[in-house]
Amino acid sequence: MLPNVLKDKLDSIMYNIADSLNAGFALLDSDLNIIWANNRLSGILNLEFSPIGKKCSEVYKCECKDTKNCSVLQSLASGKKQAAETQLITEKGDRRYVRNISIPIRDNKDNITHVVKLSIDITEKEEKIHQLSLLRKLAELMQGTLQIDRLLHLILTCVTAGTALGFNRARLFLVDKNRNVVYGKMAVGPSSWEEANKTWSEIGNKYEKLEDLIKASEDNYRDDTPLHMITRLMAYSLTDEKEIIVSCIKNKKPILEKDAFNNPDINKNFVSMLDVNEFVFVPLVVREEVIGVICADNIYSRKPITEEHVQLLSTFANHAALAIESADAYKELAEKVMQLKDTQERLIRSERLAVIGNMAAYVAHEIRNPLVTIGGFARTILRASIQDNQIKKSAGIIVDEVGRLEKILSNIMDFSKPLESVKVISQINEILENTCSLMEPYFKNSRINLIKKFDMKVPNIIIDPTRIKQVFLNLIKNAVESMPDGGRLVIETRVENEQVKINIADTGEGMTTEILQNIFVPFFTTKVDGTGVGLSVSQKIVDDHGGHIKVKSELQGGTTFSIYLPIKNATTSMVVNKCH
Ligand code: ADP
Repeated sequence: MLPNVLKDKLDSIMYNIADSLNAGFALLDSDLNIIWANNRLSGILNLEFSPIGKKCSEVYKCECKDTKNCSVLQSLASGKKQAAETQLITEKGDRRYVRNISIPIRDNKDNITHVVKLSIDITEKEEKIHQLSLLRKLAELMQGTLQIDRLLHLILTCVTAGTALGFNRARLFLVDKNRNVVYGKMAVGPSSWEEANKTWSEIGNKYEKLEDLIKASEDNYRDDTPLHMITRLMAYSLTDEKEIIVSCIKNKKPILEKDAFNNPDINKNFVSMLDVNEFVFVPLVVREEVIGVICADNIYSRKPITEEHVQLLSTFANHAALAIESADAYKELAEKVMQLKDTQERLIRSERLAVIGNMAAYVAHEIRNPLVTIGGFARTILRASIQDNQIKKSAGIIVDEVGRLEKILSNIMDFSKPLESVKVISQINEILENTCSLMEPYFKNSRINLIKKFDMKVPNIIIDPTRIKQVFLNLIKNAVESMPDGGRLVIETRVENEQVKINIADTGEGMTTEILQNIFVPFFTTKVDGTGVGLSVSQKIVDDHGGHIKVKSELQGGTTFSIYLPIKNATTSMVVNKCH
């Protein structure tokens, strides 16, 4: 221990220096025990005990293993003044950055007997550097994220992540120019202070890399939290300039509100939705246009929001807005590509159908006449008084086969004939009901158990009922034919994504992947007496109605055809068009 005289002297010198520098001081003996320290040191290290008499490592929370980061070990080894920066988690769980300067003290014989350790708190500066580098990394990550919902979630995660901007909760509002509103899109944040503490300390301890942290928060993301659901209910007209969020959009400037509960200019309804007295709004601006707003608060920690936080959030919002714009443009592009692909496929299909149709009509026409002649001769032979049974039997076979060929030919000619389409307001359930009663005897003979599940809320739509009925007949006929030993046929209607969906499901033999790939190809058939035109014609009819057909099939497990017909047609006027 230090002699009293020396201690008093040191005390007064050190206190003077310490007060002027706002630094912590400690005097260490050669065994690295702290034999003297000023009060400021306890403040900087957030200590709950006196450092005097304790080991250096115990007080500074470092392990003394790494000489490179320890100014004391370095100064003992070199005999000179040394400096090093360390990061430590204090007893109370705070992260602190400290710059330590160690100066060796020698006795008369030039041996190092003590070390003076000076500690300066650089947490604020380091945190700023850390936050800025984090923002740069976030900006890179955001620019690389093109999937819009993922990106929006990433943005809110960054606003709330302790290591990033560190707000307790964040909400994102988007501007919808078509509807002239701003609406709540997404919210991220815990529901209580305990949850906030737990989540962020868990995440902070577990994930060192920002990417990992973001992945973890994505995995834990839930869109059924009260915060998210309340945010989704929020929508404000852009003409209502009295709303604080609208004025943030109009002025394109952040708003830091410190006392919302007592501010007569803020709509009370809005404040009660936010449920917090202090919050910040930051606009998302791209090329002078506001595309949305981020709203953040510290409801649980009640940490005051400073101008500096607003600045940081604004810098972040600029990057976020650009990223949202890129993702939006990408989404639009992807949709356009899909549309183009769809149109191209439809075009190829109808082109192919037209070519095949013309060819089929030509071939059918050429074959028909000789076929009629062959059939005629065969019937004459059958009717003639010929004794030879063998000849009569053969003539009978020719008559039957010609009949079958004529049926196929008439199917093919139907297929290639241009059809007049007359679209009128119709009720799908009624058409299906009608088709089913038409086929009732057929179901009975084939031992089919028919189950109808019609949704009565299906609206009227504009279609050509005769042609759509043809589609149902084709699909139901195929379903029955796939169940030669009988089975269950379920016909279901419902509304899905602004479309009427009709499911025709059988429990029949199903299809292999190879068959499934070819079923819409004209004249593809696996049946001995099939023509292979039913599905290609059905697809063409549904295409002409702006709809589409989907198929799911499992070998020996049954097949489900789903027909989607758009409802929006119902609002357009009646159309009469010519379809090939
Ligand atoms: P066709 O019935 O004259 O063969 P389609 O174009 O209607 O012509 O059908 C093409 C092929 O699709 C059928 O031959 C059959 O292999 C297959 N297919 C269609 N519907 C079903 C179904 N419900 N179950 C199993 N296979 C089916």
